[in-house]
Amino acid sequence: MHVVVIGGGYAGLRVVQTLAAHNLQVTLIEPRSEHILRPRLVAAAAGRVPLRDVSLPYSRLLDSKVRHIKANALRIDLEALEVETDSETLRADRLVLAVGSEGRLSVPGAARYSLPLYTLEDLQQILNHWSSLEEALKREQCDLKLLRWVIVGGGLVGVELAAELVHLARRWRKRYGGLADAIQIHLVQRSDRLLPEWPASVSDWVLRWFRRHRVIVQLDTQVKRVRADMAILDGPDGGEELATQTLLWAGGTQPVRVEEEPEGLRDAQQFLRVGSDCRMVDYPYVYAVGDSILPRDGEKNYPPCGQLALRAAEVVATNILAEQQGQSTIAFVPSVDRIALSLGAFDGVALVDGQELYGTAGWAIAQAADLLYYNAVLNPLIGRLTPEIFKKPTTFFENFS
Ligand SMILES: Cc1cc2nc3c(=O)[nH]c(=O)nc-3n(C[C@H](O)[C@H](O)[C@H](O)COP(=O)(O)OP(=O)(O)OC[C@H]3O[C@@H](n4cnc5c(N)ncnc54)[C@H](O)[C@@H]3O)c2cc1C
Repeated sequence: MHVVVIGGGYAGLRVVQTLAAHNLQVTLIEPRSEHILRPRLVAAAAGRVPLRDVSLPYSRLLDSKVRHIKANALRIDLEALEVETDSETLRADRLVLAVGSEGRLSVPGAARYSLPLYTLEDLQQILNHWSSLEEALKREQCDLKLLRWVIVGGGLVGVELAAELVHLARRWRKRYGGLADAIQIHLVQRSDRLLPEWPASVSDWVLRWFRRHRVIVQLDTQVKRVRADMAILDGPDGGEELATQTLLWAGGTQPVRVEEEPEGLRDAQQFLRVGSDCRMVDYPYVYAVGDSILPRDGEKNYPPCGQLALRAAEVVATNILAEQQGQSTIAFVPSVDRIALSLGAFDGVALVDGQELYGTAGWAIAQAADLLYYNAVLNPLIGRLTPEIFKKPTTFFENFS
């Protein structure tokens, strides 16, 4: 059986590594030479993690039997199981769509004037911005609009990023004094609390953390438009023009589309429509996984994330192996039992089987999760144990629908 996997992110790579370990013929279509460790982008954007630690070359991760075609999938034919790429057309027995998500910069001006954080290119752009800002601070000639740092989005990425910038600002104040004292951080969140998918107690703790670190958190506030030197907001007290030339965008994602794909594959939110075993509706030989699908358990929806991408990938690999052996497929039942975030170095929050851990303990668990993933991709045997570690079901994300 020849399996073609499109996309070598968290989900696609896990499918490839698991099937290759079972000696299936696997081809990965992925334009990049390196697998991006996306959660590390955040610390790297504040200069706390070096750029070289944010990705791993596929040459270190893929079994020698796996063929890696360094190209974009341009057209998919789900009836004929054919994929056209920049370089060649492939025919598969099973196809796995794992093309992930991208930033949703839906507000006018956001694509042009904000700094998103989804790819290595985005990260490089942010690092370039900081280095020109540092030059200006050294010359003591810096427009104050550059020193107002606005982060849009109070979900996991926006919160982690704002916290990392608290630490960056502190380092700069020590290093440059003077003008750097004028750095001001704003975190703008559309809903009435930060981290709306986490328990309210966590949101409250994180809000207090930001207030203690003098971050201006603006809740119930929407960004209506971004201009070269300002963000136009609409909050509980009406409209506001916030002068800034440093606006970082963490305002949500949307599933990536393949350039030419058949009509009717997606739901209203652009997620690929799949059955409980991750096979695509109407296409039994095609699977979809990762941020391309909306994890569901009955009526309950979960926001896509790395952990669920990995768990769904394990299910997809299991199902392809089951099909090969003439056995029935299993269902992907999402649950997020253990999750953690860091607030810069040495502070964080973790939820472990219903327990909330704050401060250094939370941070340590976030680091452990990062190291576990890092080692799992380098050594697929550890990767195959990961779902066991995350096994216990929970009611976390209960309120997300
Ligand atoms: C800054 C940031 C921080 C995050 N932090 C966390 C965290 O702490 N915890 C957590 O659980 N989740 C986190 N996430 C979310 C997590 O990274 C994603 O849920 C996860 O990467 C989804 O995996 P995926 O395989 O679906 O997509 P991705 O990992 O995005 O991989 C998709 C791959 O498909 C490739 N691709 C796209 N189009 C094509 C095409 N046409 N042809 C071939 N290949 C293609 C891309 O190059 C990419 O390599 C974070 C995300 C970001 C952006």
